[in-house]
Amino acid sequence: MKKKKMQGFYLIIASLLMMLMIVSCQSQSALQEEDNKKPLPQDSLQAEKDRDTLEENNEEVEQVEAAGEIPPELQEPQPNELGEYMILMYHEIGHPESEWRRTPENFRRDLQILYEQGYRAVSLNDMVRGTISIPAGTSPVVFAFDDANKGNFNYLEINGGLEIDPDCAVAIMESFHEENPDFGLAATFFIYYPNPFRQSGYIQKKLDYLVEKGFEIGNHTYGHGNLGKLTPAEIQRELAEHIRATQEYLPGYEVKSLALPYGAYPKDPELAVQGSHGGTSYSHESVLLVGFNPSPSPFQNRFDPYRLPRIRASEMNTAGVGLYDWLEYFIQNPHKRYISDGNDFYITAPKSLEGTLDESSLGDKKARFYED
Ligand SMILES: [Zn+2]
Repeated sequence: MKKKKMQGFYLIIASLLMMLMIVSCQSQSALQEEDNKKPLPQDSLQAEKDRDTLEENNEEVEQVEAAGEIPPELQEPQPNELGEYMILMYHEIGHPESEWRRTPENFRRDLQILYEQGYRAVSLNDMVRGTISIPAGTSPVVFAFDDANKGNFNYLEINGGLEIDPDCAVAIMESFHEENPDFGLAATFFIYYPNPFRQSGYIQKKLDYLVEKGFEIGNHTYGHGNLGKLTPAEIQRELAEHIRATQEYLPGYEVKSLALPYGAYPKDPELAVQGSHGGTSYSHESVLLVGFNPSPSPFQNRFDPYRLPRIRASEMNTAGVGLYDWLEYFIQNPHKRYISDGNDFYITAPKSLEGTLDESSLGDKKARFYED
């Protein structure tokens, strides 16, 4: 019975693969006509198509499941969606390199190394909500920029025209994404007022641009207040005023995340999450701390969206807990790392982690475990 099922399964897969070959040849030539300068990342495109087909064909997935096997595309490296991932904390991009400033060259190197090591950019809101759509075998990484320095997003006035500074964070991420479309394009800018990005004439233009490109705006208070030192009324004013100012530029925009200035939590932690002032209210889905380690998977029972640790994307004074230390940690401890199964419907993890699953986080998803 099982053998017959599997034979049928292989037949279906074989015919699907033939169809895929035809489709992919057609789309490849179409794409190449459009832009023959850029080489296509064929392998990942093909993998994505294979996966989509498998997902559309739920029957096949169930059959493989019934046979007690993990679909072939999920086998190496083994998925672990109860593993840990990094939220990277950047501040200024510029010269010279310092504790809170990354040079454009080093930021490009960070992106390249993350990409080569199988990381893919996922937005903070998607990460926290567990809506993570990245290919099988890759790991999510979240980019967070604090303080809205000029080097995050800078316009250059050249010959009466306006150009985005190729050495600012936004331009670096966009050009990296153009060269490596499968890396993704996502980051949250935790801005404060009254002059985010330090070019007062271009605030509107920059915020519109960020939202249009799919970047997120996060709360970093109105005036970079230390919430650990303020009264409850002042805390709510600092947080609600940010929302009011952001919505003046971006009507209807929902700010869903907060990065605590100085990593300082209010004495009443609930005020970091919800509150109101002068008719404006705020409700954050996530609150980011300053240090110092990776975050648990959003499907893990240790996951606390209101206390998300971050990793300093720096190589100076990080005391062994900077980006490159954690990259090495995940190389040495691959079983700790969040690795996607490439399938939005399933949360896949080794059986030894079954007890760490937070059932209530699954929603419409289904958990599945393999022997490790
Ligand atoms: Zn700050």
